Amino acid sequence: MQRDQHFMTDLQTIRRIVSAAEIRRNETVLEIGAGKGFLTKELAKRAKVIAIEIDKKLESDLRKNLQGFKVELIFGNALKILKRKGIEFDKIVSNIPYAISEPLLQEMVFIDFESAVLTLPKSFVDRLKVGPNDKNFSKLSILAREFFEIKTLFEVPKDSFHPKPKTTSVAVFLKPSDKKSLFCRVFLHEKMKLKNAIMRVLFDSRNYTKNQARKHIKSLKFNNLLEKKISGMGTGELKTVWRKLHKL
Ligand code: SAM
Repeated sequence: MQRDQHFMTDLQTIRRIVSAAEIRRNETVLEIGAGKGFLTKELAKRAKVIAIEIDKKLESDLRKNLQGFKVELIFGNALKILKRKGIEFDKIVSNIPYAISEPLLQEMVFIDFESAVLTLPKSFVDRLKVGPNDKNFSKLSILAREFFEIKTLFEVPKDSFHPKPKTTSVAVFLKPSDKKSLFCRVFLHEKMKLKNAIMRVLFDSRNYTKNQARKHIKSLKFNNLLEKKISGMGTGELKTVWRKLHKL
C-alpha cells in the first residue's frame, strides 16, 4: 500500500466536508487524489467533478463507484497536470495526498479558483500559520499569508479514515487573496530575475518611471539577490525579499 492511501470512508465526515465547500449546481469541482471515489461520489451528487488520481490500480474501483455520475477522471500526477493550465474549475475539494501538501499549495498560488476545502495534516496547517516573528517563519508561511485566507474548520476524527492514520488531520477552508500586495505581484513573475520582476510591477501597478523604480530598488539594498530568479530562491532569500518589499 502506498504511504498516502488512507481512504476517507466515513460518510458523515465526507458530507461535512462537502457541505463546507458550499457547492452550487452549475459549478465544477476539482478533486486531487480521488482514491476509491468515496468523496468524489458525494461531490458528484452536487456538481460536475474533475478528479485526478495518480494510481492506475484504483481505476476499476473508481469507475465502478462512480458509475452514472458526471465525473471526468484524469489519471496522472496532479502537480504536473495543474501546471498544464488546460483544466478549468470553480472549487477544489480534496482529501489530498499529504506528501504533496507543500508543492500543491505552492502550485495553488498560480491557479484560478474561487475557494477550496482541503483535508490536511494539522502539523502542516500549523506551519502555514507561523508569523514573521517566529523562528519557523518560512517560504510556506509567507505564501500562505500573502496568497490565501485560511480558516480551520474542524479536526477530522482519525476513524473517518481506513486504515486509521497516526497523523492528526484538519479540514480547512481556503480562499485566494486579492493578490494585490507588491510581494504577490512580484512573486507571480517567479520565472523572472527579481530586478526585472520588481521593475515590471512598479511600472504596471504604481506608474513609476524607470528612474524612480531604479532609485527605489537601489534604496532597498537587495544587492546580489536582484540578479536571481525568484523561483530559484531559498527560504532565507525569499524572507529577505518579503521583508524589503513590505517597505516599498
Ligand atoms: N480522496 C480519497 C479519499 O478521501 O478516500 C483518497 C485520499 S488518499 C489520502 C490520497 C490519494 O491521492 C490516493 O488515492 C493516492 O493514490 C493519490 N495521489 C497521491 N499522489 C498523487 C498525485 N501526485 N496526483 C494525484 N493523485 C495522487
